[in-house]
Amino acid sequence: MLSVLKNNFLKGVKKMKRVYNFSAGPAVLPEEVLREAADEMLDYKGSGMSVMEMSHRSKVYDEIIKDAEKDLRTLMNIPSNYKVLFLQGGAHMQFAQVPMNLMKNRKAGYIVTGQWATRAYKEAQKFGEAVELASSKDKTFSYIPDCSDLPITDDMDYIYICENNTIYGTVFHELPNTKGHILVSDQSSCFLSKPVDVTKYGIIYAGAQKNVGPAGTVIVIIREDLIPDEETTHVLPGTPTMLMYKTQADNDSLYNTPPTYGIYMCGKVFKWLLKNGGLEAIYKKNVEKANLLYDYLDNSKLFTGTVVKKDRSLMNVPFIVDPKVITDDEKRAELEAKFIKESKAAGLENLKGHRSVGGMRASIYNAMPKEGVIALINFMKKFEEENL
Ligand SMILES: *Cc1c(COP(=O)(O)O)cnc(C)c1O
Repeated sequence: MLSVLKNNFLKGVKKMKRVYNFSAGPAVLPEEVLREAADEMLDYKGSGMSVMEMSHRSKVYDEIIKDAEKDLRTLMNIPSNYKVLFLQGGAHMQFAQVPMNLMKNRKAGYIVTGQWATRAYKEAQKFGEAVELASSKDKTFSYIPDCSDLPITDDMDYIYICENNTIYGTVFHELPNTKGHILVSDQSSCFLSKPVDVTKYGIIYAGAQKNVGPAGTVIVIIREDLIPDEETTHVLPGTPTMLMYKTQADNDSLYNTPPTYGIYMCGKVFKWLLKNGGLEAIYKKNVEKANLLYDYLDNSKLFTGTVVKKDRSLMNVPFIVDPKVITDDEKRAELEAKFIKESKAAGLENLKGHRSVGGMRASIYNAMPKEGVIALINFMKKFEEENL
């Protein structure tokens, strides 16, 4: 019975059509990983149950979460004085959890480079003094401000950045000079896209749904000495047990039921990355894909990128119909709507820009194959010929 069900299920999976999904998140995952998960859906490694159905305290699940942590440590070369936590609540929960746990002096510096950084900055104001150290709001967040000599004061508990700005398509190619202060980075949309030196950070966190797995899991990498002790230094009286890093760190992310299936999927993506040469290898591929698309945009007569060249993201590529070419606002909006409609019909999905900025955006995360980027460029070339 079980095997009949399983075979029917897999047949269904094999028949399915896959599109090139340029969504910013939840986003494309490696097809190989999805197939493996489908294969294990009804019976995970002879357990007779799905990973969704098993106890988070079981031996079989323990291996899944331990493996995920071990593989992530290998991939990122995470030093032993950093804890890896698998939590819930998305990136937004970290907007609060970071200041609740780290604002000893009730003061921190924020570099405001987009919507997510703004949200984090505003949330921190609930807990203390959040100081805007720099911002790129003056030019619709189309660049990364100079962060070589920020007005950082000694009493700031940490300096906060959103490393890759998913909506606007900018990235910190160079980390800010924090003048010796702890750096906290939201890496949600660039996590595992390139090698990073973990020792430069106090906290790295990332919502899984952009580059590593399903929504519902957020990964936090935190230097051990920053985890406040519940009795003494933890800052905000009344911080819920669940929101103290110490609670999860002391219990290896198993204080309560963690997002079990999400962690399992992240673990599979970690293995996929390791098997394909780790972060150096994926970085090379990401650079190659992004260069193809940016080169096309730089030479296109109809489309143009919206970001200052030196700050371009490898992951999120926003573009518009060039207002210098099509000067009429209405005509431009019409063309963009047509582009989104026709690209969808051609199997290129989710190219609409974020609702706050409009235009188009291609998110080309780790799991987007080079063929997908080439298909997009070919479609854009054709569209250009037909509409110019
Ligand atoms: C998507 C995103 C967020 C918001 O993530 P949620 O999981 O919805 O809270 C925050 N920061 C960055 C960089 C993002 O890309």
